[in-house]
Amino acid sequence: VLVRKLTTIPSADIRMSYLYPWDGVVHTPFGSAWGVVAPGQTSRHHMHHEAETFFIARGRGLVTSNGEAREVDSETVIYFPPFTTHTLTNLSDTEDLLFLTVWWEDPALHRSRLGVGDGAAATVPETSAIPAAPRSRQRTLVITAPLTPNGDLHLGHLSGPYLGADIYTRYLRLRHVEANHATGADDYQSYVVFNADRTGSTPAQVAAHHAEEVRASFRAAEIAYDQFLRAEESQHYAKVMTNLVRRLVEAGHAEVQEAPCPYCEHCERFLFEAYVSGTCPHCGEGTGGSMCEGCGRPNEGFDLIDPVCNRCRRPPVLRPLPRLFFPMARHAEALREHLARASMPTRLRALCERILADGLPTIALSRIADGGWGIPVPVPGLEDQVLTTWFELGPAMMVQAELLGESHGWRAEDRDILSGDLRVVNFFGFDNSFFYALLVPALFLAAWPDRLPPATFVSNEFYRLDGLKFSTSRNHAIWVGEYLSRTPPDLVRFYLCLTRPEREQTSFTESEFRETVRRELGLWQTWLHQLGGRLRRSFDGIAQEPGFWTPEQRDFYRELQVTVEEVAQAYEPETFSLRRAARLLCEMVRRAYDFGNGEVHWETVERRRNELRTSLALELAAARALSLLAAPILPRFSTELWRGLGNETSLQENGWEEVPAWVPPNTRIDLDREYFAFPG
Ligand SMILES: [Zn+2]
Ligand SMILES: [Zn+2]
Repeated sequence: VLVRKLTTIPSADIRMSYLYPWDGVVHTPFGSAWGVVAPGQTSRHHMHHEAETFFIARGRGLVTSNGEAREVDSETVIYFPPFTTHTLTNLSDTEDLLFLTVWWEDPALHRSRLGVGDGAAATVPETSAIPAAPRSRQRTLVITAPLTPNGDLHLGHLSGPYLGADIYTRYLRLRHVEANHATGADDYQSYVVFNADRTGSTPAQVAAHHAEEVRASFRAAEIAYDQFLRAEESQHYAKVMTNLVRRLVEAGHAEVQEAPCPYCEHCERFLFEAYVSGTCPHCGEGTGGSMCEGCGRPNEGFDLIDPVCNRCRRPPVLRPLPRLFFPMARHAEALREHLARASMPTRLRALCERILADGLPTIALSRIADGGWGIPVPVPGLEDQVLTTWFELGPAMMVQAELLGESHGWRAEDRDILSGDLRVVNFFGFDNSFFYALLVPALFLAAWPDRLPPATFVSNEFYRLDGLKFSTSRNHAIWVGEYLSRTPPDLVRFYLCLTRPEREQTSFTESEFRETVRRELGLWQTWLHQLGGRLRRSFDGIAQEPGFWTPEQRDFYRELQVTVEEVAQAYEPETFSLRRAARLLCEMVRRAYDFGNGEVHWETVERRRNELRTSLALELAAARALSLLAAPILPRFSTELWRGLGNETSLQENGWEEVPAWVPPNTRIDLDREYFAFPG
């Protein structure tokens, strides 16, 4: 028989004997103890995050709870919701008051008591009374705009779609949602041909070389992807493109039209995309052929003001040329419906609505082939032409889903990006806005009117370097491969998040980068080292269960719960903001650092061990939350911290926690680690 004797526990002020959990015998999901209040004595005023109930076994007393007092005797059961202060006074002069207490942790209950909504439904704090959008658990395909393989990757590229998609995919996986990141190179871009032409190599060589360079840069920056699609290497690619063209032509949505096209008499060639530049007919800024980086609107080359040939810098003439065209205006109504259900940043939506109001353009889907580089147009009379890479964007997503489905063994219907069952989230830079948000859905809706084209868009603005545009030709750039070979990826990823060009153009500056990571992440390191030190001093480095709570502790916990909710929101595509996520993490650490510095004073008061236990348990909960919340942005740091917190399962296996969880009591903690290596 297992028997326990009543013993006095100093911090409780009354004689108490813990019954459950019983070390070495059983670990129960509730705690229980016998308590004895001596005649005339009062138990200490305290509150905690557990719900609690007293059964009075013998005697007569007075219970006070949150200012309310009630007389109790042996026929009484008393319930205390979480975070109510309570005391029990023995009213007898002669007889002990004996009671049994049982307490348990109920996260939903104590969250609601703190004014934080219930996590399962993922709501924001009750104070705002506006619930957050439900979070998708759907299988998700994250697609980033294909890179043009005609140069290496610079920090400007990295800061946009690629870092965004990588972090979003990591976040989904942490939530145990099946997610894949598909990216690739648009081999058939005219820029590849232009580059090959200039450097005396072949388009295939240029594309292969730079695609490999880009993959190496992704590795250096820890941008993970599950598929890197190269048109040149795919069996499906041409087939899917050709199929869509045929469908559009048969239905009369794409047609051969003769239209003027810039022609350089000196170079003796028609000029498209990479080969021509001029002034944008929409905004008056300088632009290349096809897409204006300034205003995000397309041009058809012939409508450029003061066009010049990019090979010889001479002005071209206009010559008629039959090509395959797609008159978009016919699909305005379908596009309006599509936009109504789409999720996108404000600037992108405003652009789409302005273009719709001005009238949708007619877009060329084909151009003259240079050395046969590209997908031939399966239309009689256009044998000398290939499809434009803008046309390829949509069907390339179909190829991505098909190939991923094949390698993961998805059923045929799950590989269908138009079914609405596979959630597709597109990440791209502002200069791709028109194509992803309008052209791709218009082509899909023309070919398959009853289907649902991908409609979740995350776009970004341009990132600058020292206030000026990144420029490959002027070598005003920081190359990812080179830079990341001497700077830890976590630091770069963190800083790019903090300064990401989400709603406006932002700029990278080396000195600010160094200063910022040292200041912000330096504090993370300091806080964790101090926390480890305090835990060693008071509890031999062993994690504690929370005990009694002070109002400050309760407030800290409430804020921590709100932060978890807010960071999750910043990772969701509808409200995606890595700037906000990074700032929230910094603010959370600053808050924990201040909190820890205040709580350290409990160390000097022996009878406040219970409060000290609570403060250390709270800081450890904050550290645990930090390692999960920061994992998508700073994967190395998070893994290191997760280990330091004594976890046996991996961070990925454990997964996202909607509510900050306690570090299990009795875990050995080792936070004395080198989390960051700061540059010079
Ligand atoms: Zn423009
Ligand atoms: Zn020329």
